[in-house]
Amino acid sequence: MKNSFPPPDTLELNSQNSCNRCGNCCRQGGPALHKKDLNLVREGKIPIGNLITIKKGELTENPVAGGIQPVGVELVKIVGTGRQWDCCYYDEKKGCTIYDNRPQACVLLKCWDTKDILSIVEKETLSRFDILAPDDPLIPVIREHERICPVPDFIYIRDNCHRLPGQLEKELERLVRDDLRFRTRVIRDLNLTLSDELFYFGRPLFQLLQPLGATISESPSGITLRW
Ligand code: SF4
Ligand code: SF4
Repeated sequence: MKNSFPPPDTLELNSQNSCNRCGNCCRQGGPALHKKDLNLVREGKIPIGNLITIKKGELTENPVAGGIQPVGVELVKIVGTGRQWDCCYYDEKKGCTIYDNRPQACVLLKCWDTKDILSIVEKETLSRFDILAPDDPLIPVIREHERICPVPDFIYIRDNCHRLPGQLEKELERLVRDDLRFRTRVIRDLNLTLSDELFYFGRPLFQLLQPLGATISESPSGITLRW
């Protein structure tokens, strides 16, 4: 999931001062939600099935610091479509299909002047715990998942992927296994969909490790992680 903003339309770099609805920003990934967007979720205008959680410590492109960085706070974003980055609410012909109810980040995004949008990066953002009611029965389940599968130090893993200590390799393999086992059990017991899973638990750990050099395979003897 990207967290970047599109470069200003190069053809209009010097003259653009309004949105021409080209959709480039909508094809860079769905926006993170902010506190001002809470009612959009609470009122069902943006259902949780269209959201994905990016847990604190996951690597994303940071448009303020520049480059790929661990995210400093938990984020909840609108999901992309399929394997693409396009925001799920973007339609090639119609543009934004929730335009009147688009999140704050989309309202503030002016690709020709990114001051406003940069000022809210990782500020006043919504987390799963802001969205869910305090007595939601899934909250203890999320906490249990966080305990079983804490976010590892992705920067260390990325920078040392070809010489990870054997003990850490084993630990990551165990975490991947525990994560998948937990998800399988919870999805079955609570009858969750894949979309629900991405909101409640974020992406599986193995998916986050793959771009850092890990390959995962499954055999009758279990899951193996190779680097
Ligand atoms: S804000 Fe987005 S839709 Fe509007 S011109 Fe810029 S990239 Fe295109
Ligand atoms: S919610 Fe609408 S404006 Fe915002 S990224 Fe998605 S399609 Fe674009």
